[in-house]
Amino acid sequence: MEGIVVCSTGRWCDVFAEGSTYKCSLKGNLRLKSLKTTNPVAVGDRVVFEPEENTLTGRVSDVLERKNVIIRRATNLSRQTHILAANVDLAVLIATPILPRTSTGFIDRFLITAEAYNIPVLIVYNKLDLFEKEMSVVEYYNDIYHIAGYETLMVSSKTGTNVEDFRKFISGKTILLAGHSGVGKSTLINALNPDLKLKTGSISEAHLKGTHTTTFARMYLMKDKTLIIDTPGIKEFGVVDFEPWELAHWFREFKQYIPHCHYANCTHLNEPGCAVRDAAEAGKIHEERYSNYLGILNNISS
Ligand code: GDP
Ligand code: ZN
Repeated sequence: MEGIVVCSTGRWCDVFAEGSTYKCSLKGNLRLKSLKTTNPVAVGDRVVFEPEENTLTGRVSDVLERKNVIIRRATNLSRQTHILAANVDLAVLIATPILPRTSTGFIDRFLITAEAYNIPVLIVYNKLDLFEKEMSVVEYYNDIYHIAGYETLMVSSKTGTNVEDFRKFISGKTILLAGHSGVGKSTLINALNPDLKLKTGSISEAHLKGTHTTTFARMYLMKDKTLIIDTPGIKEFGVVDFEPWELAHWFREFKQYIPHCHYANCTHLNEPGCAVRDAAEAGKIHEERYSNYLGILNNISS
């Protein structure tokens, strides 16, 4: 049978097929094929599996070709990687202008990874009910991200405002939901599908902060065939290794200026004849994006 992986812990995975979820082990050949990763089968994978008769268990024998994978280092020191998700159509970053305030530095790190993986992004500002009387906080973010060329949406998962717009935007896609703990990811998933009754609020946050165990991504199926991959407690969205001069290519709106820099390997820091810095000084690139760029550049060069 063919199915889709909704949860994967490494040796085991849950596979959804024809209305049921099967707890599956992996055939030995699959585990051997991918020693570099802690989980040869990841959430979002389309797999072939052999179900056991009369039980909801089975064995995965093959992973179908992937459109993309988002990988992370298994631990900071490890050479092994962990596949966070596969076959993602859209990465949705849930940010909150207040309570808690999401920094533009966090948003920009998320965006460069999505650019590097070539996955489209939607930025969703949640908790509209809390900031609607003070729109200047969200206008500040919109200034930055609209100039950069990103789509944004404001919602309140609590009151339901604009949740239908969000549903339409993601309809039929496989989306990865990311954001700091407490921004309302679980509340938003519940708003889309109340049957799921996911735990929300401080209890789950405390639990996530208090333990060092890996938290796994999980996929939720919506009635309209939209697939939502939730990544609880995952701060870092993928890893990408690149040289300092490559970084600017993942800042979408910088790209048009890069060919006009005097040096081909310009890092846009203090080189003479830098078209990116000129654009930032002229206000064509938002100063916050440029300063976040310099911060990340500094991190990867040191
Ligand atoms: P998660 O950690 O991203 O899954 O966040 P939760 O869904 O658990 O939400 C964290 C807290 O924010 C909970 O207390 C929610 O009730 C609250 N919350 C979520 N969405 C909204 C919203 O749109 N408005 C308000 N006022 N609170 C919200
Ligand atoms: Zn330059």
